[in-house]
Amino acid sequence: SGIIDRLTFKGGRPRLVDSVVHAVNGVSFSIAKGEVLALVGESGCGKSTVAKSIARIYTPSGGRIRIDGEEVGGYGHRQMLPVRAKMQMIFQDPFASLNPRQKVRDIVAEPLREQLEARGEGNAKARAREAALALLERVGLNAEHATRYPHQFSGGQRQRIGIARALSVNPGLIIADEPVSALDVSIQAQILNLMMDLRDEFGLAYLFISHDLSVVNHIADRIGVMYLGFLVETAPRDRLFSAPRHPYTRALLSAAPTIDPADKAVEMELEGEVPSALALPSGCCFRTRCPFAFDRCTAERPRLQDVGDGQSVACHLVDEPERDRP
Ligand code: SF4
Ligand code: MG
Repeated sequence: SGIIDRLTFKGGRPRLVDSVVHAVNGVSFSIAKGEVLALVGESGCGKSTVAKSIARIYTPSGGRIRIDGEEVGGYGHRQMLPVRAKMQMIFQDPFASLNPRQKVRDIVAEPLREQLEARGEGNAKARAREAALALLERVGLNAEHATRYPHQFSGGQRQRIGIARALSVNPGLIIADEPVSALDVSIQAQILNLMMDLRDEFGLAYLFISHDLSVVNHIADRIGVMYLGFLVETAPRDRLFSAPRHPYTRALLSAAPTIDPADKAVEMELEGEVPSALALPSGCCFRTRCPFAFDRCTAERPRLQDVGDGQSVACHLVDEPERDRP
């Protein structure tokens, strides 16, 4: 059916990718059909690593990736092909992610052509091109655009092309890594609205990676907050904005200039620099910047605990609420 009912990612040890350590630790979540799960956090917190590991752009070293109950962590290209019919990725910079020497029609057709060829179906190229034309129209482009090259389009149009390409295989899940952060604000809204329309039309789920809380507030059903490769809090969107529990989440919400001050549940300032992922603090990864830190935070790494109402928090304050005052 091409629908992902449940997707689980379990991260493993920090690993070396292009000389940069990306620590993604024990990150585990599932995404329901038609759901938008947003991962937020400052740059370098491991959001993109999670996305790219699921899409298998990075090969995980120690983790587990399960899609529809299937372990795909060790899959090679050929084994991944049927999995790619279930999930596709769109990127922050559509220009960098589209082949400059390919016509738009062929860019959009390529994933479907690959799928049809792998299944030994005839006329793969022609059928995929025909589907590509319909998809270009669906995302707001037209047949005249089909024979042009990526450089002839604006940033917003290129993101529409990336979305059409992702849709070509009729996936259940689209992983979107900062898909609007390179675009002007007015264009951002158009692309987000298009993504939401497509969700309703195709029953798509999104894993939406963003550093921008106002964008996330606009589209997410559920939000996961990441810090230094750890998932520190997850909650339904309204719950996260109205009753954040983790000190890092509270700081992130306080610092968001686009959230109305009257809507802010708490005011909190974050001090200090993000520690290097090469030298993670012992215990809680956030303790070097946390105004609540106490002895247990140095000794013991907090686990993500269910605190009810769909909310989970990785903080020792959950067990010691009397300390929950700055
Ligand atoms: Fe702060 Fe301790 Fe909670 Fe970490 S576990 S966020 S250091 S109070
Ligand atoms: Mg990133």
